[in-house]
Amino acid sequence: MIPNKQTETLLADRPSPETIAAWRQDFPILGREVNGKPLIYLDNGASSQKPRAVINRLEHYYAHEHANIHRGVHVLSQEATGAYEAARETVARYLNAAEARECIFTRGATEAINLVASSWGGANLQAGDEVLLTVMEHHANIVPWQMLETRLGIKLVVAPISDEGELLVEEWEKLISPRTKLAAFCHASNSLGTVNPAKAMIAKAHAKGVPVLLDGAQSSAHMKIDVRDLDCDWFVCSGHKIFGPTGIGVLYGKAALLGAMPPYQGGGDMIDVVSFSGTTFRGLPERFEAGTPNIAGAIGLAAAFDYLDSIGHEAIAAQEQDLLAYATAQLQQIEGLTIYGRAAEKVSLISFMIDGLHPNDIGTMLDMDGIAVRTGHHCTMPLWERFGLTGTTRASFAFYNTREEIDALITSLNKIRRLFLG
Ligand code: PLP
Repeated sequence: MIPNKQTETLLADRPSPETIAAWRQDFPILGREVNGKPLIYLDNGASSQKPRAVINRLEHYYAHEHANIHRGVHVLSQEATGAYEAARETVARYLNAAEARECIFTRGATEAINLVASSWGGANLQAGDEVLLTVMEHHANIVPWQMLETRLGIKLVVAPISDEGELLVEEWEKLISPRTKLAAFCHASNSLGTVNPAKAMIAKAHAKGVPVLLDGAQSSAHMKIDVRDLDCDWFVCSGHKIFGPTGIGVLYGKAALLGAMPPYQGGGDMIDVVSFSGTTFRGLPERFEAGTPNIAGAIGLAAAFDYLDSIGHEAIAAQEQDLLAYATAQLQQIEGLTIYGRAAEKVSLISFMIDGLHPNDIGTMLDMDGIAVRTGHHCTMPLWERFGLTGTTRASFAFYNTREEIDALITSLNKIRRLFLG
């Protein structure tokens, strides 16, 4: 990325080495070795590591508070219920939702999108209706809509991007027609890093009466999310990418919209009265949380949000933008290396190819040096088709990564180049 005014300001506020070292102490896994080398974890876009605060909270919950929620009169059940609902309050505060009941716990971003597609889409879309996507979407924001294409006969319309990996917003806007019933797009691309101008896009869609689902799976670990400021109708994210547990995610939806959506799954806890002559459903949020939820996951996710608040979003952004600028400059020095995704605004990840080298070979060789990166299509096959590729190598940084780790990545890449290409 070419540093712009915004990143120049951030770089000036770069956290001190002592601060970064203290952050790293919070993540026990960063102290381990892989293949006899200190672990260098650059696969944060796939899943981030867990701070002691989250690990301890999970341990405390299972050691002292666990029972099933919402149904027990006994103390443990009430304590677990209290902790679970307190977690919802934390999530709502973190996302700046107007009310906690607007935050539904799901298994992750994927399930949250499927919930909206199945429930809202099933009730509101019909043959000929259009859903506007972009070519940079993760499969999780393509396939659920494609399933509705098969089921209902809706049409998917796909907005293009530039060679730099930026959404062509004017083209996107032109694709909104009277048939468009929904726009769904990523806040940040997991393959290119591109940050889409979500707030402006949402305003444009709303001006044409089109609701918006914003996929925040890649943005939520990197920036302060304010769903009310964005004015998105739905927002989805995954706990495991935000330093929280796996198997937990959030669907935020405006209360009026969510409240009008039919249940997604049926079962315990989401009902008012069940009889064989008919069943009535509870209100928000219970109607979308059938069965025993991931209680520990929700509590752990709240601990992750509290932890991130203690670090501070400005400090996180300053460190990550520094890593992005530093790594971009260093990678560009490597002969034959091409970076895919050169948007003016990016989250801290870099997709690249090296002439003559297959991403899988690069990933395997980096692993021998203890460096974990992602290789392959990153669940964005249509995006790579756009670039005439089948995938890339992707290094994705969190605030606990360091410039020294990027130096090690560069050294290792140069070594791999020499080994394979002479
Ligand atoms: N959307 C984007 C942009 C992602 O990067 C991912 C995961 O990589 C998802 C959705 C799906 O997230 P999950 O697999 O945690 O449900």
